[in-house]
Amino acid sequence: MITGLHHLTATVDQARPDLDFYVGLLGLRLVKKTVNFDNHFVYHFYYGDGLGHPSTIMTTFPYHGWGVAPGVRGAGQVTVTNFSVPEGSLPFWRDRLTAAGVATQAGSDRFGARSIRCSDPSGLIIELRAEPADPRQPWTGEAIPGEVAIRGLASPILSVRRPAETTDFLQSTLGFRLEAKEPGRYLMAAGAGGPGHRLEVHAADEVPDGVNGIGTVHHVALAIATGDEQAALRDQLVASGRAVTRVLDRNYFQSIYFREPGGVLLEVATTGPGFAVDEDPDRLGTALKLPAWEEENRPEIERRLPPI
Ligand code: ZN
Repeated sequence: MITGLHHLTATVDQARPDLDFYVGLLGLRLVKKTVNFDNHFVYHFYYGDGLGHPSTIMTTFPYHGWGVAPGVRGAGQVTVTNFSVPEGSLPFWRDRLTAAGVATQAGSDRFGARSIRCSDPSGLIIELRAEPADPRQPWTGEAIPGEVAIRGLASPILSVRRPAETTDFLQSTLGFRLEAKEPGRYLMAAGAGGPGHRLEVHAADEVPDGVNGIGTVHHVALAIATGDEQAALRDQLVASGRAVTRVLDRNYFQSIYFREPGGVLLEVATTGPGFAVDEDPDRLGTALKLPAWEEENRPEIERRLPPI
């Protein structure tokens, strides 16, 4: 049912440094500049490949100035956001990040891939994983050569107290399979498998409970092909007693949200209609796009959003 990852969404601090990091430094394309549909005076940035295909998308809510406290990274959260880069590209990325004043360190070698880690401007842990096989075509419009460019999301790390409950749920309800296992961690795959189709489930032994706030991941979204399949999954979740939202119109996809047994907020989002629904593919991310129901508020929204 689940075909892979769709996107990952974080609560971040200031808008301009966020754009500079994800577009200017990591080389992702800003595929949509819109507002948080639940708080229209806060931006919602979508970064991804050329068209923002599912599994390539990172999204942020820059909550600077709203009194949102820094979050606590811990159990019941996605604690590491990782991107897939080609094998052999880690020295390029280490040099590029270092030259920009971003400290890097070696990540743990897990499931056969080496990695480096850094923090984004809001304190999120960002990991670049050198994945041996990733067929996704990168966006190269930000002056990053194609042979080293980010391919998309890799395998976000879910930190949970009882990994077995989470892996059971992913397998029995969402159709994931256990692809590999190391002490305290499980690599779960959906659909075609490979980076962009995986979640890592890690045992959160000596960490606090996660609290959402600035510098933490809010949720990770999984992709599903059609609204009919999404409705069937929703029925199944409801029948099993899980609290799940109604289907919400996110303009670029339709979504449902629920928590897995370990407390991590998951979303299941439809593949379509995608980011070209309200903007020419060549012009993605260049104008502030609002859903139809917010257009009447555009003057006030534009006045109150921070300048970028
Ligand atoms: Zn989302």
